[in-house]
Formats: sequence, C-alpha cells, structure tokens
Amino acid sequence: MVILALRSDSVPLMNAITAPNSEPVEKTSVPAAGLTPMMAQYIEIKTANPDSLLFYRMGDFYELFFEDAEQASRALGITLTKRGKHDGADIPMCGVPVHASDDYLQRLIKLGFRVAVCEQLENPAEAKKRGHKAVVKRDVVRLVTPGTLTEETLLEAGSSNYLAALARVKGSEEDAFALAWVDLSTSEFRVTETELSRLETDIARVDPKELIVSDALFEDANLRTLLDEVGGAVVHQPAAFFASSTADERLTRFYNVSSLDAFGTFSRVEKAAASAILSYIEKTQIGEKPALSAPLREEPQGFMLIDPATRANLELTKTLSGEKKGALLSTIDSTVTGGGARLLADRLASPSMDVAVINDRLDAIQWFLERRALHEDVREHLKKAPDMMRCLARLTLSRGGPRDMAAIGRGLEAAHALYELIGRDEGHAGSIAANLDVLADAPQGLIELLKSALKEELPLLKRDGGFVESGYDEALDETRRLRDESRQVVANLQAKYADLSDVKALKVKHNNVLGYFIEVTAQHGDRLLKEPLNETFIHRQTLANAVRFTTTELSELQTSIVNAAERTLGMELAIFDKLEDAIIDATEIIKKTASVLADLDVANAGAELAERWKYSRPKVDQSLTFKLEGARHPVVEQALAKAMSDPFVANDCTLSGGKNNADHGLIWLITGPNMAGKSTFLRQNALVAIMAQAGLYVPASNAHIGVVDRLFSRVGAADDLARGRSTFMVEMVETAAILNQAGPRSLVILDEIGRGTATFDGLSIAWAAIEHLHEINCSRALFATHYHELTALSEQLARLSNATVKVSEWKGDVVFLHEIVAGAADRSYGIQVAKLAGLPSAVVARAKDVLSQLEASDRQNPAALIDDLPLFSVSAVKPTASAEPKADLLRETLATINPDDLSPREALEALYALKKEAQSND
Ligand code: ATP
Repeated sequence: MVILALRSDSVPLMNAITAPNSEPVEKTSVPAAGLTPMMAQYIEIKTANPDSLLFYRMGDFYELFFEDAEQASRALGITLTKRGKHDGADIPMCGVPVHASDDYLQRLIKLGFRVAVCEQLENPAEAKKRGHKAVVKRDVVRLVTPGTLTEETLLEAGSSNYLAALARVKGSEEDAFALAWVDLSTSEFRVTETELSRLETDIARVDPKELIVSDALFEDANLRTLLDEVGGAVVHQPAAFFASSTADERLTRFYNVSSLDAFGTFSRVEKAAASAILSYIEKTQIGEKPALSAPLREEPQGFMLIDPATRANLELTKTLSGEKKGALLSTIDSTVTGGGARLLADRLASPSMDVAVINDRLDAIQWFLERRALHEDVREHLKKAPDMMRCLARLTLSRGGPRDMAAIGRGLEAAHALYELIGRDEGHAGSIAANLDVLADAPQGLIELLKSALKEELPLLKRDGGFVESGYDEALDETRRLRDESRQVVANLQAKYADLSDVKALKVKHNNVLGYFIEVTAQHGDRLLKEPLNETFIHRQTLANAVRFTTTELSELQTSIVNAAERTLGMELAIFDKLEDAIIDATEIIKKTASVLADLDVANAGAELAERWKYSRPKVDQSLTFKLEGARHPVVEQALAKAMSDPFVANDCTLSGGKNNADHGLIWLITGPNMAGKSTFLRQNALVAIMAQAGLYVPASNAHIGVVDRLFSRVGAADDLARGRSTFMVEMVETAAILNQAGPRSLVILDEIGRGTATFDGLSIAWAAIEHLHEINCSRALFATHYHELTALSEQLARLSNATVKVSEWKGDVVFLHEIVAGAADRSYGIQVAKLAGLPSAVVARAKDVLSQLEASDRQNPAALIDDLPLFSVSAVKPTASAEPKADLLRETLATINPDDLSPREALEALYALKKEAQSND
C-alpha cells in the first residue's frame, strides 16, 4: 500500500478516464481513512492504471468502483449499486459476470474506452494462509485497447485490426517519419518510411484502430489537424518508447536474434517506429509475448497512393454515410474465409505498383477461371478452413481455448485436401505453384494429434475441461471413470436415504456452495433432526421451505468426486499444454499455410466474381496508357441488376497519349445533363484502376492501364464543419492537393470544380485548374463540369478532348441514355431534372421562363448571369408578356404548398418567396 503509507488523509483517484472524444472527467479524490484492505488494494491498482476502466476480479465477477462504475454503468446500461461506505458516502459499484465479459468489453472498446483487466493471482484459500484478513493477491494482467484485441468476439472476421506507431526523427533540414503497424490477432508486422506530405495518405491506407505517437509529436501544433483526423484512437506514449538509440536492442531482444540484418535493412526512424510498437505491446500484454512475424519492410514507392478524401469519395470500404454495404469492397468480396476477406481488403487499400506482383495475382485468377469444376471444389474446401491465424495468435498469448486448437487442425486438414485437389491439376500459374509447395508441408502429424486428442463438441474455455477425446489418454479415462462412478453412487444414495428416512420426496442435490447435500421439505426436516435419524443425517442449512443435510458417506464421496474432478481437469490441462506446445512448434508452417489459404481464397473469389459479372483481365504495364472499353461501375451495375432495372450502359475511356502524339495524359472534359451519369463514369474509371492494380479482374470488356502512382479524386461536396471548413473550402483544399501533387503517372478525377461559389469565380477557378493540369501536372484526367464555356478550351489545349453524355428529349422530358460520346453538351437540362424530382409546376414554369430570358440576354454581362443559381432570387426578374398574371401565379404556387410537408425553414423560405412574388406583382 505505498500510496496509503504516503498519504493517510486522501488518495488521489485519478479518474480522468475518458472515452477518446469526450471531455475529461474531473479528478476526484477518495480519502484513504477507513478503507477496507480490499478497497485499499483496489485504489493502489487503479492508481497505476489511470487511463483505463479497471475490471477488478472478485470471484465470478469483474467489479468496477467509484467513477469507473458510474461511467461503465452509463455506457453499458447496467445497474449501479454500492458496496460499503467511504468517508460517509456510498461507494458506487457495478459488475459484469466473467463469463459474459467479452461482450461488455466489446461495447466499451467500441465506445472508445480502454480496460485494465485485474485478475486474482491466487485463490482465497491461499490468501487465508497468510492470515485471516489477508486480501487475495490481484494485479492487472492485460490492458485491453482497440488496437490490441485478439478475441473472436471482439473482432470482425473480415477486417484487420491494426495497431500503428508513428515515429519521427528530427533532421537538420527535414524530419524523417516512419509508420509501423501490427495486427496482434494475426501476428502480421509491417513498417514503412513516410514523409510529412503523405502521412495522412499512409495512415489512411493502414486505417489503424489505434495509433501511438510520442508525447512530443502529440503536442506538435503542425501535426494537430492530422492527429485529430485519426480521431480518438491516438494514444501518446513516453519518448523512451520511440528512442531510436535503443530500438535495435529492443527489436533484437524481442526476436532473440543477434542482428536485424536477417529481416532486411531498416532506417533509424523505421526501427524507432517498430520498437515503439513492441514497447506498447509489452505494456498492454503484460508478460505475454505474441509470436509476431518479423517486421516486413514495405517500399514507400510500392503502392498507389490514395489520399483519405479520395478513399472516402470513391467509397472504397465505406460509403459516404459510413456503411460497409454499398461500398466497393463489400460489393466485390466473394471470399469465403476471414483471412481471404482481410487480404482482399488489404489489396484494395494498397493497390500495387509492381507489375510482376499484379500479374502474378491475375494469373492465379485466370488459372481458376479456366478450371471451372476445380474452382467450385476449391471453394467448398476453403469454406471448411477456419481462421488459423487468429486461433494461433490467441494460443501464443495464452488466450486460446480448445476450439482454437481444433480450428488449427481443421485448417491444416483443409490445406492438405487442397494440396491433393490442386496438385492433381497441371500448369500451376501465378502464385498457385508456390502455394502448392506450402500446402504440401501441412504437418500430418499435428493434424492427427489434434484429431485424436480433441472431442467433436468442444467447450470454449480450457478451464471448463471435458475437451479431451476418450481413448486418447488411458490415465485420464480411468480418473474420469472413477469420477463418473462416484457420481452414480451419489445418485443411488437418494433411494437409500429416502427408504431409511421414509421421506419419499427426499432429494440429493448439488450446488457450488454446499457441494452435494440432502434436501427435504421443512415439514420432514424435524424427523431427520431427531433421533435416531440424526445419527445419520447431519444438519447443514435450514431454509424457509427446506432443510438440508449431509452424511459422512456423502461427504466422503463428495471429497473423492471433487478430487477426481480436480485430477481430471489437471490432466486435461496438461494435455492442453502439450497440444499447445505442438502447435506453437509449428507456428511458422501454420502461418504460411494460413496465408496461402487466404491467397487462394482471394484468387478463387476473384474468378467467381469475374465469371458472375463478366469481368476481364486487365493488361497492366509500365506505360502511361489508360484505355478502357466497355467499362462499368461495379457497384452501380450490381445495384441496377438487383433492382431489375435497365442494365448498366458500358462506356469507353481513353486517356493515354494525346492529340499530336504529345507525351502525357489526355484530359477529358465531360459536360452533360444532370443525372446523366457523369459522376458514375468518373468514379468507374478510378475504381477500375484500383481493382486492376489490386490484381483483380475488372468490370470492362478490355482494359489496358499503365500503373497509376497516385489517384486523386475530387467528387461530391461535403461540409467539414468540425474542422471549420465550408463546402467550398473543402473543395478548394482537395483541389489544391491535386494540383500541387499530381504527375504524369497519376490519374485525376475532378467533378464539378468551382460549383460552390459565384458563377464567374467558379468558372475561372475551373478554367485555371484545367490549364494547370494540362501544362504542369500532365496527368491522365477526367474533368466533369456544368460550365459549358470550358469546352472552348479544347481549341487551345492539345490534349484536352470534349466528351458528353447522350440524352434525348421526349415530349419536353429528358431521357438519359448514359452513353459517353465525343463532343460537348449543348445544355444541362437542369430544369427537366428538377421537374422529374417533383419541383412544384409553378416553379418549373417560372424557371423555364427565367432561363429563356437569361439565354436571350447578353451572356457577357455579369448582371445577366449573376442570378442563375439561387432559385428564389429569379423572381426579381421582370415578368415577360408570356408570363401568367402574378395573382394567378401566386394562387397556383400556394396551391402546390402543403404546410404539413414543410420543415420550419422551408416554410419560412416559401413565405419569403411568396412575399417577394407579391411585391413584384405590385
Ligand atoms: P449530377 O450532375 O446531377 O451530379 P451525374 O451526371 O453526375 O449527375 P450520376 O450521379 O453519375 O449523374 O448518375 C445518376 C444515376 O444514373 C445513377 O445513380 C445511376 O443510377 C444512373 N446511371 C449512371 N450511369 C449509368 C450507366 N452508365 N448506366 C445505367 N445507369 C447509369
């Protein structure tokens, strides 16, 4: 009780526990005087873990006290009770049962809390040996944080759970940065160097659940915005975690190697990041050492860079509203294993720049496509393969159970079956041949061992016992038999005692407190308490309606049953340890096998997808080509098919070369009506590039892509009010990033630049942006706009072509054909689209009227254009002869308004409009 000795009056209870995005809770102090020894122990442990909720183990519950209890009860919706008093006030308490704690942990972690799990390190009997009032020894055995999860129930099968560390080494001119990341649930460990300008892009690619940085970096004002962007999961740690001077030593000690050379060559800052990760793992895993794979260095230039805004805009893994459903990943994910799903997500998040790697992946898909029957069979086998990586990680952290072991056995068995199946075929293309070599090594001995040792139906936890198959270990079978026989003898005693006492309703029962006991109703209790029966029946407990007894014989049996049960469990646990050792000895081959299964799953699923949706193999090379024929948007295509609407209209796109054989990319300037499909077209070209470089077949009849190094998109508009940026500001920040960074190998997608400001400002910005793209960036680019004036630029800019989306008009309505053709749109058909959207007919009529006036006026005169956007200001325009009398128009407008359908703001706007209308009538 160090703290208590130091301060007798009050103990600081550092309860500034916060969910990352919430305000810190005010610190409180709890006077130490009058604390029970157990509470004093609680406070000591809590003091050492100020940033986490403390799950304090008491028997079958984890209890929380003081502010922890208040926060947890609020967060989990569980009852807040109290336990004893402290300084005259009740001590708030709440608890969660140990067996259901994973569920509560999951909810707390999702809400942004961190949890310190404090276990009993001895049983109460051991504590009592030290004295009657001795408190059971307890300590924190693990810190549960978002980036260090391993439990199946806390993780999503198809998503990686990365913990990342960002390190910085100050330089005389420039600082060096590196990012290291691990998934403790799969042991994967990677590291890469990065730089200030692409930090956001690299962090977005990894998408860590928790990011650790040094205290100094956390306080750095220049990085504030970036860290805020990552959100609540940023944790700052002492500088020592990141010290590059000790990084080498920490890394070599962890891997028990004399030098890191065997793993590759790492820069100083990369080692600092990797070593910070290890320090944090030591801090949170407390004594348990995960079998992390050696850190794999990723070449900074190895992947297509996709900044966070582009990722979000293209809805790669999540839609703009945050849903997984409807995003590219969930639309094209046909994998059948957790490992496969994670690998696919990884490839989409980090499209490769390495043509050989890409072609290897494509070869594997093609191989499956050419073997339809085999491809079905492989899929069936893969479905049977459990998530070996995650099971293995749990076992190496001593968190695994019998089911994890059986899963590894089944996974290896599936690998073996796949070896037989695939091995029979010939001409193994792409990664298939190398994969086959690994599958061949699936250790038969281990498969057999696990099969013979483990039962079919298994308990989740080893401590429950009952997982070893009978027949596996003779000695265990014998103790089990003794235990079961004694149980039978106990059951027979019921009839014997019922006869002896002449109480037919006498029962022999069992509970955890009394063990086995005899129970009769209160009415019969007296008889058993009196002579002669009291010589046999020994009173234990009197309840309202029942009296409980034991006998010498029953007690002895009870002891022998408990002993046998303990012995049985002890023997089972010893067998568990033996099996665990055998599995851990095979760690490397299990990991390799699991990654081969994931690779096969992705290739097989790629073939499945390609076959189902008629995707084709893209040609990917080092050229600056971008030529797609019959390309489709994978998500919209599937959505239309599901809705049984008209099929998706495929389109071509060529951005390679240019007019007059100029060196760099073409820019297509796309004009066309609203709703015609411009945004869809823009996005689909970007998505095809990502899919191709992820090594997947693409939704196009033909695709030739010279590797894209950076993909930029500025599509759609959204406020970012939290960061104090208006829609227009966000648009300009993103546009600035593109114009400053894009190069000839980049692909740039720009949708409606300059819409959020006054017409001439917007037009001028769009104009200048196109010129910059053409002259300076020289990227392959698509630029959609409603500024038809820009189409004239194609006269001056050699590599700028105009394209438009075809529509036809039928009885005054617009019909969308979704076909991209060369040329410029004559108009935007905005009013027709507005009519389709259900704008009141009076407004549509009025808009048409205003439009014809504007079109008739002098387009060079700003005054004639200035009002072409805001709807209600158009009423300032003087009525024409053809216009309806104002009074009628007012009446008609009023008739279209249904007050019940209007929000207060819409009602107010309608009122202003009507008033303005009336005034202009005057
Ligand atoms: P706006 O200028 O109003 O933003 P837009 O021209 O960008 O419109 P999109 O949003 O791309 O139009 O497309 C509108 C709708 O048209 C889509 O939701 C989709 O359902 C459909 N669509 C787009 N392209 C195609 C296509 N090629 N084939 C079939 N339907 C399509």
